[in-house]
Amino acid sequence: MKRSKFIKTISSATLAAGLPFPMMTFSTQQTGLRARFSEMAKDDDFVIKDIDTYLLRKALFVSVELNNGVKGWAEAMPNDKRSSRTLIEKTLKNYFEGTNIFDVEKTWDQCIKSEYDLGPGGLLTYSISGIDCAIYDAMGKVTQKPVYDLLGGRLRDSVEIYASFTRDVYPTPEKAAEKAKQLVEEGYKTMKFRMRWGLENQDPPNDNTVQFAKALRASIGTDIRLSMDANMGHTEKRAITLGKELEAFDLAWWEEPTAPYDYGAIKAIVDNVNIPIVFGEHAYTVEQIDHLLTYGGSWAVNPDLLKCGGFTGGKRIGDFIAKKDVKLVAHNSRPSLSTVCMLHWVCATKMATLPQEFALREKAPGAFDCLSGFPEFKNGRLYISDRPGLGVEVDEEQVKAFDKKYTK
Ligand SMILES: [Mg+2]
Repeated sequence: MKRSKFIKTISSATLAAGLPFPMMTFSTQQTGLRARFSEMAKDDDFVIKDIDTYLLRKALFVSVELNNGVKGWAEAMPNDKRSSRTLIEKTLKNYFEGTNIFDVEKTWDQCIKSEYDLGPGGLLTYSISGIDCAIYDAMGKVTQKPVYDLLGGRLRDSVEIYASFTRDVYPTPEKAAEKAKQLVEEGYKTMKFRMRWGLENQDPPNDNTVQFAKALRASIGTDIRLSMDANMGHTEKRAITLGKELEAFDLAWWEEPTAPYDYGAIKAIVDNVNIPIVFGEHAYTVEQIDHLLTYGGSWAVNPDLLKCGGFTGGKRIGDFIAKKDVKLVAHNSRPSLSTVCMLHWVCATKMATLPQEFALREKAPGAFDCLSGFPEFKNGRLYISDRPGLGVEVDEEQVKAFDKKYTK
């Protein structure tokens, strides 16, 4: 479909609905946690007493303490970790403190709807994710169930992860190729290289994406899956030209070649480039995923658990894409607690059959010093534990020491 005709199609659909854009409606369907744990849902022991945040160098950890003293831990998306901390401490915690953890979905809906003007794309969902995931960790601990069981049950006991690395750290094709070879030796079967152009730097004059693709493919051979991420770096026309050049390198997928909100451009790229195109890391709700699939298109979607409101939002997206028969290739730019949360989510998500992102330990300085029991890595896969909650121990003293150091 030509772009002009496509835009007209969108316009007539929205006009038919009588709205400037299709109405955002949040699903209020609950997963039955309150009914499943009906006695505990009435017990004051499982009411949230306190929510705290802790700054690490490149992370924002969140704890949720219950009246009975049990603590759940997780992390919030830390793109602007001090603003997220303020939002949690000053606003969001007021919705959750004093509520029973088995009412998490009801409280989550209340919070998101009441604070809708602060989001839902960005800081609001980035911040609520940390609270939501920490609540699920606490819920797992008090029910003695792993989080995946609270999400509907484990469909797989290990997950292939793909190594995700970036031009910021490996700035030349030679350096990237050397790292790629090392990643293959470590056992990875799939990898993604992020060009990190960004919306602010679209169609850069020094675009060397093709040189990177060529060097990476030569380094890893033809048996390892390679994908690339343009990080929103191109206009529609340039993305189509570049995409055609990249077809020669057998990419498993090409991520965000253009702006995530430009559905017309996305549709044109999907229609004209013979590489699987992936969007979704900037779609934060079921409704935004729906719009992306309806008006743009995406071979698979890559929402991020820390951007879409945690397990509550992630479960709804997982259920939605199962109905659409679209696969999940989860975005996960935070290697430590976020990865553990992501594993529980994808283990319980039907459409998560692709490799899932792992941004390498180097991206979370200090965070692994605070954790024990991180899932075992073997042959490119992470093996999920069946311990209660997230199944990892957080060293609270170490977390507090980092917080003291980085809180200014
Ligand atoms: Mg990406």
